Amino acid sequence: MAFLYCPRDATALVPTRIDGRERPACPVCGFADFLHVQIGANAVVERGGSVLLVKLSYGPREGHWTLPGGLVESEETPEEAAVRETHEETGLDIELDGLVATYMRPAHERHETWSGLIIVTFRAHVTGGEIRSAPEETSDVAFFPRDQLPALDELAWPSTVHGLDAWKAFERARP
Ligand SMILES: [Zn+2]
Repeated sequence: MAFLYCPRDATALVPTRIDGRERPACPVCGFADFLHVQIGANAVVERGGSVLLVKLSYGPREGHWTLPGGLVESEETPEEAAVRETHEETGLDIELDGLVATYMRPAHERHETWSGLIIVTFRAHVTGGEIRSAPEETSDVAFFPRDQLPALDELAWPSTVHGLDAWKAFERARP
């Protein structure tokens, strides 16, 4: 889905050929409608070979497990969002250990919004805090051994599966 009116000055956009494609563009200020994408940040928090998952207590995937994480705010980095969201959802403080995966879900595969979503997933470890759920977001928080993860149909999102697969692959590659 594209803009119909300029988000800067509300002028009706007109199809304009830019970078090899017709795009809605503003004849007044030059705004051109390119890809819209939201950015999500997830954390694979590992402790003693187990990984931290949260059970969603709201939305279309209520009752399903996912990695702690959420959308990146405009004033923060994906790294900061992963740390913030993990604390909000689990009560745990974490330190990131590096990038483990990126996952892009194009707009046409998402039914709830008009933008694509790219999710950046980091490995992390616990540095403090007390584990707890956050009733508005999560109904349960738990560490799962790598060979006792929830079944595929108990996982919330394609990015959850992708992130866990990337984590397991990363671990296998270690000496
Ligand atoms: Zn404009």
